[in-house]
Amino acid sequence: MESVSVRNWPVVTTRGEPLCGDDGAHPALSYDVEHWLAAFPQSAAILAFKDDVLSIVAGNARFLDGLRVHNGRLDDSSAYHVWLERIRTFIGSERDTAFFETRRDGKLGPEYFMCTIGRLPTDESDSSLFLFTATDRTNERTIEKNLRRELLSDGLTALPNRTGFGEEIDDRLKNNVWPEKAQFGIIAIDLSRFSRVNESLGPMAGDELLITVAKRLKSSLRQGDVLARIGGNDFAIFASLNNGLSDILHIVQRIQDALGSPIRLSGLQIRVDCAIGCALSLSLDEDPDDVVRKAQAAVKIAKRSGKVEIYRNGVLKEAQRRFSIESRLRDALTQGGLTLAYQPLIHLQTGEVTGFEALARWDDPELGNVPPTEFIAVAEESGLITTLGRWAAYEAAQALSRWDVKYGQPLPVGVNVNLSAIQIARDDVASMFEEALRYAGIAGDRMTAELTESAIVADPDKARKWLFALKDLKMSIAMDDFGTGFSNLASLHSLPIDILKIDRSFVSSMLEDHDKAVIVRTILSLAESLNLKVTAEGIETQDLALQLQKLGCWQGQGYYFARPMNEADAFDYWRARWNFETI
Ligand code: C2E
Ligand code: MG
Ligand code: MG
Repeated sequence: MESVSVRNWPVVTTRGEPLCGDDGAHPALSYDVEHWLAAFPQSAAILAFKDDVLSIVAGNARFLDGLRVHNGRLDDSSAYHVWLERIRTFIGSERDTAFFETRRDGKLGPEYFMCTIGRLPTDESDSSLFLFTATDRTNERTIEKNLRRELLSDGLTALPNRTGFGEEIDDRLKNNVWPEKAQFGIIAIDLSRFSRVNESLGPMAGDELLITVAKRLKSSLRQGDVLARIGGNDFAIFASLNNGLSDILHIVQRIQDALGSPIRLSGLQIRVDCAIGCALSLSLDEDPDDVVRKAQAAVKIAKRSGKVEIYRNGVLKEAQRRFSIESRLRDALTQGGLTLAYQPLIHLQTGEVTGFEALARWDDPELGNVPPTEFIAVAEESGLITTLGRWAAYEAAQALSRWDVKYGQPLPVGVNVNLSAIQIARDDVASMFEEALRYAGIAGDRMTAELTESAIVADPDKARKWLFALKDLKMSIAMDDFGTGFSNLASLHSLPIDILKIDRSFVSSMLEDHDKAVIVRTILSLAESLNLKVTAEGIETQDLALQLQKLGCWQGQGYYFARPMNEADAFDYWRARWNFETI
């Protein structure tokens, strides 16, 4: 280590009167830098920065002791490394002085340093010198922390109190690594009969009960959960959740197990009754105080109901929306408020439009545009799905006949109609299609029924009967969203299925995602061996279309070709693409 003499530095000396003693009594400034640094009661060093390298010019014993040098190299855990980043930030700034606090993990716990840094004048233009000091503040900070802990914890159980609970939660939300989609939950626990224990056995017994309950609750926690005593007989648990409600219910089960056996108090066996209320956060950004309040609201209900109560966000709103969808949908179905949109199905080898998938659309004057995934689910729950399904089949057949009239002869396209598993279970879909085709005067081979695997799984024998009935009508049968259900290959083989529609979750990303591409290829070869045709859903780019064409896929559907459109636009689309020879 090279030492630098301060003798050559421009030193400002007091030119006025000496503070005391004779004039000319100033001692000579003839010390080495080490001597100056040794006079600091804290760690002090002169640092140099040249050619992007920061080096230690000189340091006092306190500074050098804290460095933890091993074999001539700085140990990564040394204070120096903790300081380094802040020092570099300072050097990069325009400032002349700065101070900051750092924390590092020491052998006996965290260590805190208050640091100062200032620029020193230097003759060399290409290097800079700095005076750095670090004062160990660990003791003060530890005392402060202990004091805070006193203020934030409950003296009896040593658990965090209400304020401490809030701080612990904030700390975890800020400093823990949270997986995507994680939530947190609050479980509020109210010891129902606590006041009776206090009254009949005295406050000492009451205290003992609280301590025992606290211990038992603590034993039911998972790592990272926080237990607090947030009121006289109220406890609360903060829990991180990766699986929402299911995680919370597991913890509740553990709490119930932990409090299940009686507690011995003053020679008596006491059973601990508690009410439990839980609340889940919507996301990690939700104010924890709100979630605690919701859990407390739930525990109030639990006290009356005697059951574990979960406060669910928006429960009320959700139910109201479903209710209004159901009543509006009922009206829409009788008043012709629904329409069908038609999305082209493209022959991937020739580019021709082979048909359209009919997709229900509902634009309600009050609710606005309700997506089919939402209203189909409500229709299934409410039983309206049979009416809706019948309407869709009749309407699709009618559209075909209107197109035929417009064209002057049967249009060489078909229409696919979606069937819900619940509709199939409740209605006679074979006679429905028979009527729809008959009323519209359309041949059965121009209609395809799209169903999902769930429609077959529920009752395979019944499925076989009506599927063959559809085949008697010369209709085709497509297995929709293929790959997302649990495919029963045996049933595929023995049932009269013609087409597999590969779900768009596999298709859309198959070019970037190797696993998805493998699934698509597997489905294609499975289809080949079962002698089935394949439609790929969700083709959003030309690259995808070309790739699927190369893989020998029969038909494609997706935004790349066209979005679902109204009946007139669909006809025009078909006419514009007539004799189209490429995709
Ligand atoms: P589905 O039968 O699998 O229909 C395909 C869905 O994918 C349609 O959504 C369509 O608009 C969408 N889609 C098509 N190409 C693309 C693409 O390239 N990218 C993306 N992101 N999406 C694409 P939609 O119309 O919202 O329908 C959703 C589901 O609602 C349908 O899925 C079907 O299960 C159901 N549904 C629609 N209409 C009816 C109906 O009349 N009856 C029954 N039971 N269900 C229906
Ligand atoms: Mg479909
Ligand atoms: Mg689908």
